[in-house]
Amino acid sequence: MKILFAASEAFPFVKTGGLADVVGALPPVLAREGHDVRVVIPLFSAIPKEWTEQMSHETDFEVQLGWRRQYCGVERLNKDGVTWYFIDNKYYFGRPYIYGMGGDEYERLGFFCRSVLNMLPLIGFQPDVIHAHDWQSGMIPALLKIQYRHLPFYEKIKTIFTIHNLQYQGIFGIREVQDVLGLGDSLWTEDKLECYGCANFMKAALVYSDLITTVSPSYSEEIQTAYYGERLDGLLRARKADLFGVLNGIDMEDYNPRTDPYIAADYGPDDVGGKALCKQALQEELGLEIRPDVPIIGMVGRLSNQKGLDLVDYVIADIMRQDIQLVVLGMGEGRYFNLFSWAEGEYKGRVAARFTMDHALAHRIYAGCDLFLMPSQFEPCGLSQMIAMRYGTIPIVRETGGLRDTVLSYNEETGEGNGFSFFNYNAHDMLHTIERAVSYYHGQRDVWKKLQHRGMTGDYSWKHSAGEYLRLYEKLFEEKKPVEEKADEEPNPVVVDI
Ligand code: ADP
Repeated sequence: MKILFAASEAFPFVKTGGLADVVGALPPVLAREGHDVRVVIPLFSAIPKEWTEQMSHETDFEVQLGWRRQYCGVERLNKDGVTWYFIDNKYYFGRPYIYGMGGDEYERLGFFCRSVLNMLPLIGFQPDVIHAHDWQSGMIPALLKIQYRHLPFYEKIKTIFTIHNLQYQGIFGIREVQDVLGLGDSLWTEDKLECYGCANFMKAALVYSDLITTVSPSYSEEIQTAYYGERLDGLLRARKADLFGVLNGIDMEDYNPRTDPYIAADYGPDDVGGKALCKQALQEELGLEIRPDVPIIGMVGRLSNQKGLDLVDYVIADIMRQDIQLVVLGMGEGRYFNLFSWAEGEYKGRVAARFTMDHALAHRIYAGCDLFLMPSQFEPCGLSQMIAMRYGTIPIVRETGGLRDTVLSYNEETGEGNGFSFFNYNAHDMLHTIERAVSYYHGQRDVWKKLQHRGMTGDYSWKHSAGEYLRLYEKLFEEKKPVEEKADEEPNPVVVDI
């Protein structure tokens, strides 16, 4: 199969979160299965020189965006059996930030979506499937169906769209988006592009993609409810038959305590001795008291409400009343920067917080901590908890989305489980779960070791999920069977006119 991935980030080129991990890891796995897999992302200025130096110029052309004509270069790089394309325009992507701030995100990402479609005949690649990810590439399926479908080159291309986070939808004024993408007035009705009076890139994808996936089975159910649905739950319910949850994997080589070049000592499930050295090295590096007997709780991730940090805020004094250390690595909201900066001063030698994007330090935290805290309000999949388990660091999570699908709370009766979890979004439930975990660390080393071993031997690879994606790609080409209507049943009242 010929598959084109379109997204705004991919590891190791540019990353702000889990999306990049997925778009970086899944294509090489599919390519190893013998498929022609190519990926296209914007050439953000954040992409390091070590990569840009390896790129070669594929082609360039001009893109019409309303009254604008913009240069579009396509740079190319081959890596891991995959062809990676980078959409080059210094005005849109040569800025010192990746997202936001300019106030013209619709124009930057509108340009990206249009350029991806326009480049295909010019680079001579006619994919069977375009697999678009998150709102930044959400206009691709819509433009394809609305504006390109009548051209023979695009006629047979199918689209699949993956929701990595429904909260970020790319919401803009209709006039602005029309000005850039030229989508006529008749398209702005609620069954098509209009969304609560606005343009919405995510909704456009959900209406016009042939299939929709999200990154865990639980999240695919949750987003059909009002609580998690971010005002798109009605549409998602209407498209229920085309919506699938496929759990993300992690790159098992990049995250491997046996071979990890970033950590102080290597170790594995059957000899975890090296983990103690990693812990000591982490304490030294971050200026924490060097004590092997105190459990370190780690947190790595975006400092946003989504990650349940307000729960931590409510009970930080109670958490720190225990004999523990806390390590935080993340970037994001000022509120949490203030919280953890304050905690670092308040609990000297016991709390360390770093507010940067540091891939190597993240590895050392996964390896050096004993527990990993992820009390998310919602979590489409979450990679950090799987990475933590791979490093023998036991997760404490809230039972939601992908956390619920990957972490099973330790059950004293049956002995099952690989971590600790709580259900209600409640600070004291989280606190008690942390206390419970800490009590096992001190009091029941046999249980602790069992949980650690289970985590380290879990299969978080892409193998299974890549197979599921391939089955979905194949499904796109199956003839749709007409639905059999039974005489005594009401006809389905939900009609989505796409
Ligand atoms: P999300 O996609 O919601 O941000 P995930 O858990 O799916 O969360 O993925 C987060 C990924 O980004 C993980 O690989 C995590 O280690 C990494 N990450 C997040 N923040 C940082 C940071 N400040 N430094 C290094 N890595 C980070």
